[in-house]
Amino acid sequence: MSSMNRRSFVKVAGAAGAAALLAGCSGNGTQEPADDTQSDDATGEADYTLVKEGVLTNVAELGFSPFEYIDDEGNTVGFDVDLSNALAEKMGLTCEWLPNQAFDTLVPTIKQGGKADISIAGVTITDERLEDVDFTDPYLNSNQALIVAASSGYATDDLDAADVQIACQTGTTGDAWIQENLPNATRVPLADVTAGMMGVSTGSYQAMVIDLPVAQNMLAQSFSDLTILEEIPTGEQYGIAVSYDNPGLKDALNEALAAVEADGTMDELKQKWFGTTDI
Ligand code: GLN
Repeated sequence: MSSMNRRSFVKVAGAAGAAALLAGCSGNGTQEPADDTQSDDATGEADYTLVKEGVLTNVAELGFSPFEYIDDEGNTVGFDVDLSNALAEKMGLTCEWLPNQAFDTLVPTIKQGGKADISIAGVTITDERLEDVDFTDPYLNSNQALIVAASSGYATDDLDAADVQIACQTGTTGDAWIQENLPNATRVPLADVTAGMMGVSTGSYQAMVIDLPVAQNMLAQSFSDLTILEEIPTGEQYGIAVSYDNPGLKDALNEALAAVEADGTMDELKQKWFGTTDI
């Protein structure tokens, strides 16, 4: 245990804050407004572009309860969905969510542009991702969870062995954590979180690593036979991924985030989806 490297994935607040300051200093006034360029409420200046006029288009992986998932009626719901709607409202826009995409395609989709303006999807701000896309200020703290079958009797150290299969969602920070901290285990990257939990439940896999709030939610909802063996304090923070080509959008989102923090909406949503504002 003591040899395990619980590296923090980011020095987020500092990096994001500094980036925000730089963006603020660079100015947006020289750009000719395009047809789909939106105005900033405060200045009236056009300073960001959208894929679809009047709409904040989001791309996400939709199996990440309680952040984004499809409910029994087929609606896309969750904390991030409510938050994206609240942010859009502050910006005088509506928000639309594209159909489900694999998690490891989200950052490339934003980097490439043309399809979605943002990815709000429980995405951890990491130095590696910051090479490809920008992020808003952090909006939620998260850690990882190591999940096993409650009846397994495993200790964490037992898991670092080749005959132990550990599931994760492909390209996530949980995926990276396994590679760094349980290098001898057989990692099983999957597109779908539920498939991983199901596999641990049925004994196909011995463990899974996934974000703690999602583990807590899904175990409580659907997997009472699984348990969190260890909470891993990675100190992650979720941000909204935006293109470096659209710095005005990041600024507008940061303003909207500050507004939903200030007017109590953020606490209301945390209470609604996590039963506490202390997250
Ligand atoms: N927060 C984790 C990451 O960014 C997992 C996100 C997710 O699966 N939606 O890698």
